Amino acid sequence: MNLLLFSLFREKKRRRVVELTEKMVVDGGSGHACEWEGRWNHIKKFLERSGPFTHPDFEPSTESLSFMLETCKILVIGAGGLGCELLKDLALSGIRNIHVVDMDTIDVSNLNRQFLFRPKDVGRPKADVAADFINSRIPGCCVVPHFKKIQDLDETFYRQFHIIVCGLDSVVARRWMNGMLLSLLVYEDGVLDPGSIIPLIDGGTEGFKGNARVIFPGMTACIDCTLELYPPQINFPMCTIASMPRLPEHCIEYVWMLLWPKESPFGAGVALDGDDPEHIQWVYQRSLERAAEFNITGVTYRLSQGEQILWMCVTFFSVLLFPAACATEVFKIASSAYMPLNNYMVFNDIDSLYTYTFEAERKENCSACSQIPMDLHFAPSSKLQDVLDYLTTSASLQMKSPAITATVEGKNKTLYLQSVASIEQRTRPNLSKTLKELGLTGGQELAVADVTTPQTMLFRLCFTS
Ligand SMILES: [Zn+2]
Repeated sequence: MNLLLFSLFREKKRRRVVELTEKMVVDGGSGHACEWEGRWNHIKKFLERSGPFTHPDFEPSTESLSFMLETCKILVIGAGGLGCELLKDLALSGIRNIHVVDMDTIDVSNLNRQFLFRPKDVGRPKADVAADFINSRIPGCCVVPHFKKIQDLDETFYRQFHIIVCGLDSVVARRWMNGMLLSLLVYEDGVLDPGSIIPLIDGGTEGFKGNARVIFPGMTACIDCTLELYPPQINFPMCTIASMPRLPEHCIEYVWMLLWPKESPFGAGVALDGDDPEHIQWVYQRSLERAAEFNITGVTYRLSQGEQILWMCVTFFSVLLFPAACATEVFKIASSAYMPLNNYMVFNDIDSLYTYTFEAERKENCSACSQIPMDLHFAPSSKLQDVLDYLTTSASLQMKSPAITATVEGKNKTLYLQSVASIEQRTRPNLSKTLKELGLTGGQELAVADVTTPQTMLFRLCFTS
């Protein structure tokens, strides 16, 4: 960890605390009506005296507490398993300005672990219910809910937070968030302005495994720097799924993606829910039929659950430990009293307990945070399909549905775009053309947009002979 930059970051924040404290004196103090004697004693013990683990520059004071209570603004992304715990942990640690974003509504299958929800809440937005619960239970705490996708909020929204905590189960959403925070960084003459850094704390659990990590965007390894740590999610080509299945997964994918929307077995507009046993049973039966048709064996109930199975499996540690670890990191950074986790902790309780902390390193040519345009090496005779395949299968890029544009003969041209059906149809013939036939030249820039990042990524096309 770059200690100097972290110190600068702390200094910037400390100044804000001083400004605020001065303002409070002028205003005659804020004086929350809901305070009572000794309410924050458990927090003061960490902030008003030093200890063996405090940051070397830490000076015990009463200012840190007022910063945490009055100014510090935290964004929690996800109000599911991790999010419920996180909100409770943060609110009890003295963070009172919290926003929470979640696009989901409560399902009955969530109630076993997402403890802020009750049977009467089923069908309501998770963010709204979680915020109401915390606000009514913890006096003075103000949780603001956003029943939205993270992609529906813009940079002005994200810029207002001191720290962002992610409790997401999707790699794509994590990468998008990572890209958003990187886009907020300000460089002056190539030097990063520490005031523009919003730390990202990311927690994830999968079955009996979990991880917590602290990212200072632009300073320490970002999500994309360590993309190789995530298993690549296999995307099967649509034509294979639709007409030439060879694997049991192809049959299951066919039922999930094509048959469900076509047959609407549980009524029009009902989305397939991987947590609902009746839905999965339907998928399982239809997948078996499809597999039998093509003489494919190996379709199982477990496979029919798709990726969802991983997220249903909850343990004491994955549900409690990781949100707690993330909330502790928020506390350490918000109070500046302790050095944050450096920077990646993994946890595993498959065979007894195992935890390990290591420093994930920044990748010099990271496509997200290095600010170095990446080179793409292809022969002029390579097809656009080859470029597309590279973008989606390369372990360091793992894009989902890249849209490629380039300036050809002075005109901005969409070479391929998947997300809009009419444009996909129009640009599909380009995939079988060579780069030369498309009018591309060596050294040319290709702009690629993808769901994994809010920013368009620039690549330089290098022709190999
Ligand atoms: Zn990076």
